[in-house]
Amino acid sequence: MSVAALAALVRERQPCVVLTGAGVSTESGIPDFRSPTGIWAEVDPFEVASLRAFRRDPARVWGFYRQRIDLLRNAEPNAAHEALAELERRGLVAAIVTQNIDTLHSRAGSRGVVEVHGSIRSAQCLGCLWTEGAEAVLGQLEASDVPTCPRCGEVLKPGVVLFGELLPAEAMEKASRLARDARLLLVVGSSLEVWPVAGLPLEARSFAIVNRGPTALDEQAELKIDAAAGETLSALLDLLG
Ligand SMILES: [Zn+2]
Repeated sequence: MSVAALAALVRERQPCVVLTGAGVSTESGIPDFRSPTGIWAEVDPFEVASLRAFRRDPARVWGFYRQRIDLLRNAEPNAAHEALAELERRGLVAAIVTQNIDTLHSRAGSRGVVEVHGSIRSAQCLGCLWTEGAEAVLGQLEASDVPTCPRCGEVLKPGVVLFGELLPAEAMEKASRLARDARLLLVVGSSLEVWPVAGLPLEARSFAIVNRGPTALDEQAELKIDAAAGETLSALLDLLG
């Protein structure tokens, strides 16, 4: 399927909402989770990224996230992030719903971003619900294995959704509303395996997919382009120019 056909869809079916996953950030040097070279091939998510692991051994979970935060903060937005930010400026993308925690959409200049899996921007206190910014958390981690809440002293939890945790209700409601109001939901760089986000395309009136490799919803998609996000979205931007 051609990018020209996708350009026609984006032009005709406004508003267009974009749903992004790890495949949008791999070109920024951020490994995905589920591929053979992904993060979960190296470490067991239930040992380092689950709510249970956090309650049992927060220092181990923070050891993992401290490295992740360092990597993600040093990464730069790529052509895919830049193209989506430009499409928003041109009024062709209404909002982005992302599974990514890396904040690269915002750093590329996108404004309407809904982070349904949280982000590395902050950490939270499960005791008093205080939110602490990333700088302060990293500062604490210089001196200690775990950051603690400045208000009540509890150990802070990374601001990302852990396995065994519910998705933030407000963000998920917003994502759902955006999907329902969209005439086109454009999925980029997600294999649509993680629920409930994987169900969002089915709430939209139509959806298209740009992803390297198969996804769970290829059969139902209006259009599927099996290619990398950066080159595809750059070409899309040119065609919509
Ligand atoms: Zn607290």
